Amino acid sequence: MKRVVVDKNKCLGCGTCVALCPEIFELGEDGKARVKQKNQETEKLKNEIQEAIEACPVQAISHEQ
Ligand code: SF4
Repeated sequence: MKRVVVDKNKCLGCGTCVALCPEIFELGEDGKARVKQKNQETEKLKNEIQEAIEACPVQAISHEQ
């Protein structure tokens, strides 16, 4: 199963991914996005996750096998 990961070194904390897919992304205390559930990537959320990946201004979100 694919996992979604956020590269905190790239993340700007803009909140776009959280707005697009709040089931998966949230902003942590450090002001950076993080993945809420580690093993997600359900069919239902696939499109939202893909949108977030494409919408991130710094390409901080990616899939990890
Ligand atoms: Fe960070 Fe990208 Fe999400 Fe913005 S869209 S909060 S830069 S991971």
